Parts: sequence; C-alpha cells; structure tokens
Amino acid sequence: MITDADLRTSFRTFVVDQAEPWHRAHLGRLYVLWDAWNARFFHGQLAPPYILFSPPESARAYGDCAGVSSFGGRAQIRIRPSLLTGTHRHLRAGDDFAEGRARFVADVLLHECIHQWHFEITGQTEESYHGHGPAFAAMCNQIGEPLGLPPVRAMKRRGKDKDLPSCAQWPICVRHPLYYLGAYVLGQAEDDQVDGDDQADADQAEQGNPLAALLDQILTHIDAGRIPQARTELARLRRMV
Ligand SMILES: [Zn+2]
Repeated sequence: MITDADLRTSFRTFVVDQAEPWHRAHLGRLYVLWDAWNARFFHGQLAPPYILFSPPESARAYGDCAGVSSFGGRAQIRIRPSLLTGTHRHLRAGDDFAEGRARFVADVLLHECIHQWHFEITGQTEESYHGHGPAFAAMCNQIGEPLGLPPVRAMKRRGKDKDLPSCAQWPICVRHPLYYLGAYVLGQAEDDQVDGDDQADADQAEQGNPLAALLDQILTHIDAGRIPQARTELARLRRMV
C-alpha cells in the first residue's frame, strides 16, 4: 500500500528527476528552497507538499495552500504560473526580470509553507481570519526576524500592532523595493494579498507605502541611467496625484 508520505515523496522525486524541463527547473528550485526552509524554520517536521504551477482558487490570489488536495491527498500548494512567466499584470516579462520573478514566486511559496505548517502541524487554521490570524503572523515574524524583515500583524487591525502591515501579504509587503530586481510592479498591489479571498476584511487591503516604493524605483532607474524607465514610472506617479 502507498501511504500519503510515500506519495508525496515520490511526487517530489518525479518532479525533480523526470518532469518536463521547464517544470523540472522551476519546481526543482522551489523544492530545494522548501527543503532548506523546512530544516531551518519548521524543525524538519513538514512532509513535501504537492507544489503545482496552477491558478489558485481566488482570481486575485498569487497562490494557495489546501489541506486536502484536488485528488483527495494532502498539502497542495498552487502557485499562479503567470507570476513566473511574467504575463501577470503585477510582474514584468522578459529575461531581464526572470531572476526577480523567481524570487517573487519563492516568496509566494514561503507564505504558503506557513499555511502548510498550520494545516499539518499546529491545526491553527484561523478560519475567521481567512488563515491570516495571530498564529500566522507569529510564524511570519519568527521567520522574518533572521531574514531581516520587519514585523507584520494579523489580518484584522487592532491592538498595539495595528500600524504594522498585514501578514496576508507577507513577505512581499515587507521586502525592500529592490529585492525583486524591478520585476514586481510596485504600487499596483494595494488590494491584493498572497492568497486571500474576496470576502476578507477590507482592512487587509492596505499595503506599506506604494508612493515611497515608487519614488525609490525612480531614483534607482536614474542612478542606473535608465531614463526611459524613469520617465515611465514618473508618468505613472503623475496619474496617482
Ligand atoms: Zn495566506
């Protein structure tokens, strides 16, 4: 009999060794990261999830994690493939931005790993917060601290942490604007979260400071002599004011 653990391990082995080249390369990279995170942040307690390049359930989400997979197995993580190919409206296409898009997709996976942790290990799925409650935020902050990331709060804005960014967009919301190497179109994600649904608290919509991020982007373009790109961003800024 094949157990859940066997199947999940075999799935990863197949993807890494025998999948089509594009999937092998990109999912292989994600599984390497997943292994490192499992050891470093989750005490090696997680079993490999099914990582799929497939659109998540919510049209606005970048990814999602299901405790029960589409075929009745466990731990399915879906990542929207257009984030990696650059056809998503929040990401830039082209080879110049490929590494930045890969970093972005890795961050989506890291977010979903925390959901996997709570689904499979703690049982704290925090339904009333759409998965982004105090337990989720605590894990974001535990992982974020050694990565040098600022703290986030639970999705509902309250208490002493009310001015922090919401964990529903972690870690994307707390990354330095240049971390994605220009691949992430900053300032357009105010109403998005990594994997939430459309019914969630409107409170989750707020992001760090898109204006400051856009200004940083423009300065970076000027410093690098990319005047046409700086002009494009300035035109976007003009439309915002
Ligand atoms: Zn989430």
